Amino acid sequence: MSAKERTPPAGRGIKRVDLAYVELASSENARDINRDIILELIRSKQPISRADLSRASGLQPSTVSAIAEQLLHEKWITEGALAHRPRGRRPTLLALNDQLVILVADIRPRQAIVALVDLNERFLTRAVVPLVADPERAVDRIVECMKGMRAAHPDRSFEGIGLSMPGRVDPTTQRLILAPNLKWGDFDIKKSMEQKMKLQVELANAANACLLSETWSGRLDRVRDAVLVTVSEGIGSAILANGQIITSRSGLAGEFGHSPIDPNGPVCGCGQRGCWEVFASSNAALRYYAEAVPKAKTLTYHELLHMTEEGDKSAIAAVTRQCTALGRGLRLITAALAPEVILITGDLTASWARFGPIVQRNMEQTMLTGTAPRLAITSDGELSRLRGAAAVVLQRHSGHGNSSQGTQRARTAHPNARKLRRII
Ligand SMILES: [Zn+2]
Repeated sequence: MSAKERTPPAGRGIKRVDLAYVELASSENARDINRDIILELIRSKQPISRADLSRASGLQPSTVSAIAEQLLHEKWITEGALAHRPRGRRPTLLALNDQLVILVADIRPRQAIVALVDLNERFLTRAVVPLVADPERAVDRIVECMKGMRAAHPDRSFEGIGLSMPGRVDPTTQRLILAPNLKWGDFDIKKSMEQKMKLQVELANAANACLLSETWSGRLDRVRDAVLVTVSEGIGSAILANGQIITSRSGLAGEFGHSPIDPNGPVCGCGQRGCWEVFASSNAALRYYAEAVPKAKTLTYHELLHMTEEGDKSAIAAVTRQCTALGRGLRLITAALAPEVILITGDLTASWARFGPIVQRNMEQTMLTGTAPRLAITSDGELSRLRGAAAVVLQRHSGHGNSSQGTQRARTAHPNARKLRRII
């Protein structure tokens, strides 16, 4: 045997494969990947001709045409406008079908924002629905609002309902399993709403919905590791690790808000004492203010922020204390996950220019080593939960890793083969 024959060929090494979680490379999943790429190119460059899709993707014109026919058949796209060309045949252009719409709701403890959004993420209508404590009656109010929106748009095709929830949702059962600030108990929201609306309902944790909205918009393109933190009545978080949204067992991944900071601290909605969220949420700032000014009337967080802008010293001290706790608590995240980016969303972002540096400073002071992650706020404000809820509906039953449930399981066949996926 010559020396040359004994030397292993250069190139790939070997890799352990968990056979329970893989899909064989087949012509079918190769087609699915190409389909996702064509759909994403249409979404980002619409209106676009088949020839331009072929040039942009590098796929053969015949492959692009076959995928376009499939997407037209599934009604994800439409063809209509003719491209302008100086001479020769004018090709028809492809675009997303914005007749397809999704009903969405951002459910909070005291109110829900209900909206109708199309495939191009345009909001056709939006309404605020005050909620009552009883879950059945609260769902009835949301349903009543959604029925009104449906009746007002009889020409649209309704694809489903997406709900952003202030709690954790089991990806398998779609039941709310942890929502300390909502207190709807074991009520089956999905079943109740599906019976009343006759549309499929998808639930997502609010932080996951926001993170999905960020990935869907492309704002996190090229970022593989990020954490999004929602700061409102409580503190929620969602994790993008290695390009995947992580939900893990029962959808419970990312509950940094309920990490204990001080065993002697105030009682949290989860029943434990001294969780991060009882020091760093909007409710914490309101408590700090009430402790400092016991005779003041009950405020909303918006009012408290407004008072900081007017120079109220007690209000400034209360929000500063909240932001200090928020920044210090980010150590939980930087030490556990070392993300490239931490995104903050919620009411506090309205005063980020003033209070963001306090969060930043406290986060930097608690770093174990190296540089701190980039700290930024989401640009969409309250719309990002609604956009995320719509994306959850569009991505349902996606077999790829970027599904809202973050699973890497083999694709399961579903009677509704129509899928719209955002690729990373
Ligand atoms: Zn807690």
